[in-house]
Amino acid sequence: MRPLEEWLEEAAAFHGHLCPGQILGVRMALLGCRLLGLDPEDPGDRRRLIVYVEIDRCLTDAIAVVTGCRLGRRTLKHIDYGKAAATFVDIRTGQAVRIVARDDARETALHLAPPGLSKAAAQRHAYRIMPDEDLFRVQSVQVIIPPEDLPGHPLRRVFCVRCGEGINDGREVIRNGYILCRACAGEPYYTLLEVPAPDLHPPHS
Ligand SMILES: [Zn+2]
Ligand SMILES: [Zn+2]
Repeated sequence: MRPLEEWLEEAAAFHGHLCPGQILGVRMALLGCRLLGLDPEDPGDRRRLIVYVEIDRCLTDAIAVVTGCRLGRRTLKHIDYGKAAATFVDIRTGQAVRIVARDDARETALHLAPPGLSKAAAQRHAYRIMPDEDLFRVQSVQVIIPPEDLPGHPLRRVFCVRCGEGINDGREVIRNGYILCRACAGEPYYTLLEVPAPDLHPPHS
């Protein structure tokens, strides 16, 4: 089995630094794989995994490194709960575990680490050695993954009648019989400004 330190090195390289979140994320993902009986070093096992991460912070990157799950492969799903938690799903068996980082782990870490360390250094020290049960809470769960959320070719592609942009995999909204994208249907995350679009080829200055 690959030593923890090697995973941490890879996670730190991908993420940009070795923060406590990398250690938590690596350990969370290793635990998730172990509980599902999957080997994160086995390419076949990795292809069976889909992970739902509930936060878009440090530990998300570490989970992506260990599991190989990626947003661009539809195997990493971001559910915006703002929680340090993730659900690991074996799409072959349907078995799933949800793992939550315990809030009291921070406190425990400070007591475990040698005195004089900064908070982050204390966490980096303790999160490597704390037992799983002190770091995490684990639940058996079921996740129904709709076919249009699975990896593979898009099942369907339609066009919004208002903006004309293409929409994959059933993300459209039907209003009065018309196909609309979510933005045009009234759920935009952006506002179109009343100014010209940026020039794609600005003159050299
Ligand atoms: Zn970080
Ligand atoms: Zn639209």
